[in-house]
Amino acid sequence: MIRGTREWAVAEINCCIGCPHACLYCYGRTSAMNRGLVHSAEEWSKSRIVAAAVEKEHPLYPGQVMFPAAHDITGENIEAAIAVIDNLLVAGNRVLIVSKPSPECINRLCERFREKREQILFRFTITARSEGILSFWEPGAPTYRQRLLALSLAHSRGFSTSVSVEPMLEIGDVAALVAELEPLVTHSIWIGKMNRIAERVTIDSVRVAEEVDRIEREQGDAEIRELYGLLQHHPLIRWKESIKEVVGLPLSEQAGLDR
Ligand code: SF4
Repeated sequence: MIRGTREWAVAEINCCIGCPHACLYCYGRTSAMNRGLVHSAEEWSKSRIVAAAVEKEHPLYPGQVMFPAAHDITGENIEAAIAVIDNLLVAGNRVLIVSKPSPECINRLCERFREKREQILFRFTITARSEGILSFWEPGAPTYRQRLLALSLAHSRGFSTSVSVEPMLEIGDVAALVAELEPLVTHSIWIGKMNRIAERVTIDSVRVAEEVDRIEREQGDAEIRELYGLLQHHPLIRWKESIKEVVGLPLSEQAGLDR
């Protein structure tokens, strides 16, 4: 069965280790620490570019490829990101660009790849509208307003756009979030739970413990079924495997279908 980012792509491409967005639930940080690539959350938040990954020539992959998958695109690595995306596009790939986006970076990508926009699908991670919740869970990432502006920019320039609401950080507001974003989305809005919280989130304060409790309560099976009932007929909505398992939808059997 296909899980995680394999639902979206047949290959995940990265060119950095670390990410200044410093999300508390970060999968990339846990994975890098397990592999000994970084040794602390502080080290993770200082991104470093991997030159060999930037220079690598890519083949034509047998399906959509995702970039990046274990870091983000920021002002510090935008030139490296452009080089990688260019390499992927030159080989003929369809590239899923995933980001908690800043308007500046997305503006830059839209200008640079205007002629190749048919090969690009943007997917912007927008996990809540509340700035308080976002700044707690994703302290270094762009604000909701900045991400909305970035989405609007890409949409207005004729790129295919999609949104990932994974992990949902405020389940009671997800339907309203979808309603606000849908005029700017051409492809899909993916919705998923926060996964493997015990492994990925370090409970080092009362506030983190309270927030984890809230998230776990909000993404209980009854709440997920209620959300599914609200949005199941929405044409843009796609459910990640964490929700398919609760509501009884079949999991994907093929990577990169993005549906
Ligand atoms: S934006 Fe992605 S890679 Fe960066 S810290 Fe957040 S979850 Fe990790």
